[in-house]
Amino acid sequence: SYKIGVLALQGAVTEHLQQIAQLGARGVAVKKTSQLSELDALILPGGESTAIGHLMRQCGFIEAIRDFSSQQKPILGTCAGMILLAKELAGAEQPHLQLMDIRVQRNAFGRQVESFQVDLKIKGLIDSFPAIFIRAPIIEKVNLSTEQKSEVEVLAEFNGNVVLAKQKNLVACSFHPELTDNTAVMRLFLDLIKKSN
Ligand code: GLN
Repeated sequence: SYKIGVLALQGAVTEHLQQIAQLGARGVAVKKTSQLSELDALILPGGESTAIGHLMRQCGFIEAIRDFSSQQKPILGTCAGMILLAKELAGAEQPHLQLMDIRVQRNAFGRQVESFQVDLKIKGLIDSFPAIFIRAPIIEKVNLSTEQKSEVEVLAEFNGNVVLAKQKNLVACSFHPELTDNTAVMRLFLDLIKKSN
């Protein structure tokens, strides 16, 4: 079965590991860059993106994960993980991977709206997915670079904002698929892993 790592520097690691096991794959908590070579795919979990980003830089994960991605291995970033994947952050300076051709706005729903749940239609996947948003980011803009052809595919929107998108081996998700029993988003990620193997 596939071996899926969950970056375990800070944030919502356990829930992802549980869902991975539920789907019959093997989940590994990743704390050192040397573990990446044994993985088929990686999840960057939710948490505090500034804290995770600084720890990533300290531990050599920025370079190591860029390298992992250049081997076309699938990476899923949820919430803080989406922020870490983005090429551009709106009005924020913090260490991040800059891998995905998107501009992300942190805490896009404001302080008043800490968390909420909505049913989302996900393109080509499911008509109603229970999406849980917690101090969530949104994707303000996709396909930033003009020289490159449009590679980012929008998979779900909420109130006119992009909240789920895919670019080749990368998936960015504003909400928390690991906090519901619905495994549709994880199955989308598993399909990506199957195709890349
Ligand atoms: N607001 C957090 C950040 O900006 C993300 C929240 C989350 O991952 N649930 O890092």
